[in-house]
Amino acid sequence: MAKDSCDGCGRRVTVTGGIANLWTFGDGSDGTAMTLEFTDGTEHLLCYPCIEALPDEPTDEDVERLEQVDSETSQLGVR
Ligand SMILES: [Zn+2]
Repeated sequence: MAKDSCDGCGRRVTVTGGIANLWTFGDGSDGTAMTLEFTDGTEHLLCYPCIEALPDEPTDEDVERLEQVDSETSQLGVR
C-alpha cells in the first residue's frame, strides 16, 4: 500500500491483494486498483476503469493516454 493513486487517471484508490471486483465510481475519490505488469516490463498501479480501458498489451503510452482521456470525461472506457 505504498501508493494510493492511479497511474492512469490519478484518482485515489484502494489496493487489494487479489482480483478487484468492487469499484465505487461517481464521487471520484475512492476505488479499487491493482498493480499490473506490462509487457514492456514496467509496473503500474491502475484503477479498475483504467484497466478496463487498456488494450490487451498496454504500454506506458497507453497509461499516459488514460490521463488525457480522464481530463475530458470522468467515465473511462465509456462513450
Ligand atoms: Zn485510473
